[in-house]
Amino acid sequence: MNVRRKRFLFYTLLAGLFTLLFLLVISALNSSTAPTLIEVQAEELSQSPVSAPVPVPFEEVSSVPPDKTEQPLPAQADTIPTPTPSVQMDMIPAPTPTPFVQVVTAPPKTTSVTVDTYMPNGVVTPSASSKVSIPVLNYHSVTIDPGNVVVISPAKLEEQMKYLHDHGYTPVSLSTFIGLIENESGLTAPKNPVLLTFDDGYVDNVEEAMPILAKYNFPATLFMSPGMVEDTGYLNWEQAKQLHEAGWDIQPHGMTHPHLPRLSAEQQVFEITEARKLIEEKLGTQADVFCYPYGEYNQTTLKLLKEHGFRYAFTIDQGFTTNQQSPYLLKRLFINGEESLKAFINKLPKAN
Ligand SMILES: [Zn+2]
Repeated sequence: MNVRRKRFLFYTLLAGLFTLLFLLVISALNSSTAPTLIEVQAEELSQSPVSAPVPVPFEEVSSVPPDKTEQPLPAQADTIPTPTPSVQMDMIPAPTPTPFVQVVTAPPKTTSVTVDTYMPNGVVTPSASSKVSIPVLNYHSVTIDPGNVVVISPAKLEEQMKYLHDHGYTPVSLSTFIGLIENESGLTAPKNPVLLTFDDGYVDNVEEAMPILAKYNFPATLFMSPGMVEDTGYLNWEQAKQLHEAGWDIQPHGMTHPHLPRLSAEQQVFEITEARKLIEEKLGTQADVFCYPYGEYNQTTLKLLKEHGFRYAFTIDQGFTTNQQSPYLLKRLFINGEESLKAFINKLPKAN
């Protein structure tokens, strides 16, 4: 082998070694640096998008409620003012001529009330030997209202008045009634006296009852609540005057037909005395005989009646009125508008 050929092989091998070494160095450099940079960047990119959005939504959510709570307030404010009052106004019932239905049957629990201390001033306590007993009939509205026991039809009232007239009963005025109860000397007792009373002051009393009673020349007593004058279905003062001129005694039944035991003493005074005052002023009469609205009273009521000089008071306790009852607890006979003439007759004492 010659020298040239040996040199050629030597340099070729040397070049191959350098090439191999270069490639090794290049590959070593690529495997140590480049991958770490890519990984770090990848980690930063992958971490930052995940971690950043998490706190933001909470802040955004917590910033929403103030907007929501502010919105309902004006909405509620709008709903508060107008609607409620208008609904309440609509619910207040217009006064109707429907009678006070509570006035019906069973006597109220009045036994616990002490009455002996409430004798009116100037009333002579009658002796037991001269007992006076008079039926006091208790009517209300006189019109046609089938099924309502507190209302009697004009036809039935006519029938009952005719019966009284034809069978020797004598409806008397309130003053005659009191004279009889008090055994007033010199008073000639009429035959089979009866007192006709009408409660509440319905306009039909002047339209229906007055002409019927006038036909028989019967007087009556009306217990009215002046606070309801000119309300729908109730008498006005002009009509009350007509009744007065036709022989009806007009007496107080509370200003507004209240449940007296539910009121304070002060309120009771107003209800009792104002009703009396108005009737006396408007009609120029004496109105010191009371009638309990709903038949209700308490110890305060009895005390006030005495203090203010009332002479008598009527309940809805069932029975004939006698001079042995407390003057403030006079009984009456409720007239059921649905009952037959026979039932009416059975309520009355036998005529002499
Ligand atoms: Zn009444």
